[in-house]
Amino acid sequence: MPSTKQVTLDAPLDMHLHLRDGEMLENIAHGSAHTFSGAIIMPNLVPPVSSKEEVVAYKKRIISTIGNEDFTPYMTLFFKPSYDKAFLESVKNEITAIKLYPAGITTNSEGGVSGFDVEELRPALSAMAELNIPLCVHGETNGFVMDREAEFVSIYEKLASAFPDLKIIMEHITTKESVAALDKFENLYATITIHHLLITLDDVAGGMLQPHLFCKPIAKRPEDREALLKVALAAHPKVMFGSDSAPHPKHAKESCGCAAGVFTAPIALQLLTELFETHDALDNLQAFVSGNAQNIYGVIPLVKIVTLEKKTFKVPSDYNGVVPMYANEEIAYSIQEVKNG
Ligand SMILES: [Zn+2]
Repeated sequence: MPSTKQVTLDAPLDMHLHLRDGEMLENIAHGSAHTFSGAIIMPNLVPPVSSKEEVVAYKKRIISTIGNEDFTPYMTLFFKPSYDKAFLESVKNEITAIKLYPAGITTNSEGGVSGFDVEELRPALSAMAELNIPLCVHGETNGFVMDREAEFVSIYEKLASAFPDLKIIMEHITTKESVAALDKFENLYATITIHHLLITLDDVAGGMLQPHLFCKPIAKRPEDREALLKVALAAHPKVMFGSDSAPHPKHAKESCGCAAGVFTAPIALQLLTELFETHDALDNLQAFVSGNAQNIYGVIPLVKIVTLEKKTFKVPSDYNGVVPMYANEEIAYSIQEVKNG
């Protein structure tokens, strides 16, 4: 009797995740904590997480929400140019990275950086390099929406050459220009989402507007998606999976003034497995969803073995009021079993 095809993933990691806070945290945290061994948690709460007290308290709220799931929240601070070495030393053991947002570019990023003057950033970024704290960057300018990321590449290059010992992670890259930058600088790395591997702007706005596929950075052109697929499917050692799963309540997405963010956390592993199988690249999935991240960040994840089986999974219409990508549609893979260590 032919048995169902299975794929086993060891300690999947989501290196870019929005867990939010309060009621939303309670509604969605389990979706990540069940199938992922850990995740880099974004700090863009209101107000942003920017002190030791705030990061410790936020981590506590996450851990109490997820209960007894084996899941490590890798915490981040919201970058401020005023961070000095003494402060960074005092907070180093509580965080895995620091996230830099250009001012006003995405959800709750109003307090971000507005100029990218190297000398102004030098004290904080040099101290981070010395203390081996990676810098995660939302790389978009305030330019035309389709060009924002490509325009930001020159800022990535400026930072990468000014701070050669600083690990810089280009978050949720969406363009061929960012992919090309990866191989130009030793200290540039990247996360890639599942939705940017699957969709282009056509899927968002080519027909009826699809609010649940609207996010920042916006999905780009087919050739950009091709460039992303090429490095993700090959598990290029400098790229890692980061869902950028960003939940908003249904009314904030299906409204005039749709909030930016695609909610994928509970379906990400199923979609990745289907995608890698379609491209005959399943052998590289483990590195893309865990191995590369472990090497880049130097983290040792909790044991968690996730088995997926080739069995149709119908995506629910919502998870506690949050509509996921591909709601009510079918994915070729289901989660069969999750074994904690
Ligand atoms: Zn994000």
